[in-house]
Amino acid sequence: MARYREAVCRLCRREGGKLFLKGDKCFKSNCTIEKRGTQPPGMHGATARRKVLAGYGQQLREKQKVKRIYFVLEKQFRNYFDKASRQKGITGENLLFLLERRLDNVVYRAGFSTSRRQARQLVNHGHIHVNGRKVDIPSFQVKVGDVITVKEKSSKNVHVEGAWQTAVGRGRPNWISAGADDLSASVSALPNRTDIDANINEQLIVELYSK
Ligand code: SF4
Repeated sequence: MARYREAVCRLCRREGGKLFLKGDKCFKSNCTIEKRGTQPPGMHGATARRKVLAGYGQQLREKQKVKRIYFVLEKQFRNYFDKASRQKGITGENLLFLLERRLDNVVYRAGFSTSRRQARQLVNHGHIHVNGRKVDIPSFQVKVGDVITVKEKSSKNVHVEGAWQTAVGRGRPNWISAGADDLSASVSALPNRTDIDANINEQLIVELYSK
């Protein structure tokens, strides 16, 4: 299976801002962006001036940023776009909703992990159940009413427990409800645009793919 192999903090520096790819570290002072600023990666990063982008360059960077936030590769991202453009409604928003409803994203948003990368590992390794059945496909689309739980043995995992506590402070989106006294979460509604990072301009991606 193809996957990202780059050091993830480089991706934040490439995009010029925090993408929150590394869990707890992203919220601490040792975050690379906090320490080194938004200078581009590479040997000449410190001296290079960030170009002011417009048109195609700006559209391309926005697409790369969203792909990297959700850890999706080009082909899969393009497939999401094609599906979004066939759905009713606003294509850019549909695209974000499809990405948000991926099981690995929901595992992260619900608080079973501190990053999407860690969430993907939990799913891939069979720790996650949907409605009581193991689902090990990170791209699985959740629907309203689905209940997400961690396999009983894994619920004592210190990383999962730690992430669950952290999520209390980080907050969960309105469309995901946490179980009252166990490590479970349910999808209580479909996401809407206000639940998703406002720092994404999905229209630029639509313009890029519509050329
Ligand atoms: Fe990005 Fe997180 Fe690394 Fe900071 S710690 S640069 S937010 S991945």
